[in-house]
Amino acid sequence: MNGKLSINLTRLTDSIAEMGRIGRRPGLRGVTRLALSEEDGEARDLLVHWMKDEGLRVSVDSIGNVFGVREGSDPGLRPVIMGSHLDTVIDAGVYDGAYGVLSALEVVRRIKEERIKTKRPIGVGCFTNEEGVRFQPDMMGSLVKTGGYPLDKVYTHKDDEGVTVREALEGIGYLGSAGVDPEAYFELHVEQGPVLHRRGAQIGVVEGVQGIAWWRMRLHGEANHAGTTPLDMRRDAMAGAAELYTRLLGSVTRCGNAVCTMGKLRLEPGAINVVPRLADFTVDYRSYDDATFREGKAEVERTAGEVAERRGLRLEKEMTANFQPVHFRPEMVDVVEGEARGRGYSTLRLPSGAGHDAQFMHTACPTAMIFVPSVNGVSHSPDEYSEPEDLERGANVLLGCALARAGV
Ligand SMILES: [Zn+2]
Repeated sequence: MNGKLSINLTRLTDSIAEMGRIGRRPGLRGVTRLALSEEDGEARDLLVHWMKDEGLRVSVDSIGNVFGVREGSDPGLRPVIMGSHLDTVIDAGVYDGAYGVLSALEVVRRIKEERIKTKRPIGVGCFTNEEGVRFQPDMMGSLVKTGGYPLDKVYTHKDDEGVTVREALEGIGYLGSAGVDPEAYFELHVEQGPVLHRRGAQIGVVEGVQGIAWWRMRLHGEANHAGTTPLDMRRDAMAGAAELYTRLLGSVTRCGNAVCTMGKLRLEPGAINVVPRLADFTVDYRSYDDATFREGKAEVERTAGEVAERRGLRLEKEMTANFQPVHFRPEMVDVVEGEARGRGYSTLRLPSGAGHDAQFMHTACPTAMIFVPSVNGVSHSPDEYSEPEDLERGANVLLGCALARAGV
């Protein structure tokens, strides 16, 4: 024992397990709580119920973000918010998002139990539609809250059934009008990657979030007979897509600090004996380095143009996402690292490979992220797992950071 206040692990894991019972579907091992679905509503209701039990002041903003705040000794100050999200992908694990929200709640419970009065108000935040499965864009709640996307426009976005975001918010009773304006934001999350687990580090000190760019591209060629058309007389759309992917992979491999994925590909006409006239595909490009991200995006577009020209194809391209790399303020990163080391935990600094609400909150207030190891790096799967000791360590760091920021 080092004399520092610690969270109650049993209460935290019980909360995670109880939340993890919401969104079970027959035939699936994991949880499915698509954003603003009935299951997401049920999860929010449970969280609000728990918040009210702790005497928190609950508010919901116009994009459905939920906040529960405990008053500080100086009510004129803006609150320190800890949080994440409760929506999930299809057949997800129980930790992604929920771990951050429920650890935030555990921190507040623990502080209340100890009758600690913080100077600033301190609270829990739960952001709408982080995953982006049912409605796009992903990280919708934090993006809209921080002015990165217009509210009026996002209300009209529809799911596959034609239900709008606004209708879905109303449907579960989470179309509010009053949010909070955080003074600082802390997000605790499972790493969802293999680095901490493989390196044996207990706490990931997140320095920032990779930049991410998405394109939808179409290469148009000419359908023709696969047996009678000589290679040099083809306009093969698939050959263009293959060459593009190979060249981009070669480039990011040489560069060493970027990744590139062509994750979706559709061919027309799509027959074994026909040269493809259309390749319709996506490109996902990411880097944490500002210069690499900027140059890499230009290279993706330039290479696509060159390949199309060389092969006599027509290129159509549309950029569907373009989020710059985020670098958290050094003093916020230091707080996480100092808190973890002060408790004797081993740390590793790393950027996040996945997007998180913290990357947008960073544009509105000082923000930090804490990672704990994901066993084998598995996430977005029912096999997602983090050891209880790691969950405890992460929540303790969150507790320390929030207390330090809120002041006692
Ligand atoms: Zn998440």
